[in-house]
Amino acid sequence: MTAAHKEDIDINIRDIEDLAGKALDLLYPDPIYCICCGNVIDETRTYGLCDHCIRHMVWDTSEPQVRDGMEFMRCCQYGIYERTLIFSLKYNRKRYIARHIAEIMRDKLINAGRDGDYDVIVPVPLYKRKFRQRGFNQTALIGKYLADHLGVTCAPEALIRVRETRPMRGLSPKEREENIAGCFQVNEEYRHKLEGKRILLLDDFYTTGATATECRKELEKICPESVSFLAFASK
Ligand SMILES: [Zn+2]
Repeated sequence: MTAAHKEDIDINIRDIEDLAGKALDLLYPDPIYCICCGNVIDETRTYGLCDHCIRHMVWDTSEPQVRDGMEFMRCCQYGIYERTLIFSLKYNRKRYIARHIAEIMRDKLINAGRDGDYDVIVPVPLYKRKFRQRGFNQTALIGKYLADHLGVTCAPEALIRVRETRPMRGLSPKEREENIAGCFQVNEEYRHKLEGKRILLLDDFYTTGATATECRKELEKICPESVSFLAFASK
């Protein structure tokens, strides 16, 4: 056998090994991990959650609540599992979690019979300094995936946060309201785009709902047909 021949055979063997490896990858894909606890799961698990985490999340299956004329919906009660998901997305920048939270939100809307009720999703905006620090708005990311599921548009620039607020932690409901007052403005470019539309205002989390209420107050100025609110979790 000449050296050239041997090289040909080596290359062929490498090709075959490569192909065999690819075939094995198809048969046995890389393990994937629970988006909450990191345990190995297979890809058929709902929302990317293992059986333990999906059982321990506190799912809210109640009807939407109406407060001051706006529907409030949440997928879960905020606990340790829900917090882990939000924190991993926001602070550990695990952006793929947004896709799963959007799936959870889609199913919430389907179960509440609301999945066909909106024309546009408006995520609660971040203040620009925070946006620059984090590099992305987690709610806008969730909103884009959710909009794809519902076949509607997501308008992450429709609301602008014009003023920074002090941290809400430890503030009373009244103080929260005062802290957030006048914090949002509708982007002039969206004034006509949102007029007469059914808006779904979106956030990852809420405590008293002061932020949602303030956003809605601004959105009402441009005469939408309706404004409803959906969050992933609340206390
Ligand atoms: Zn898990």
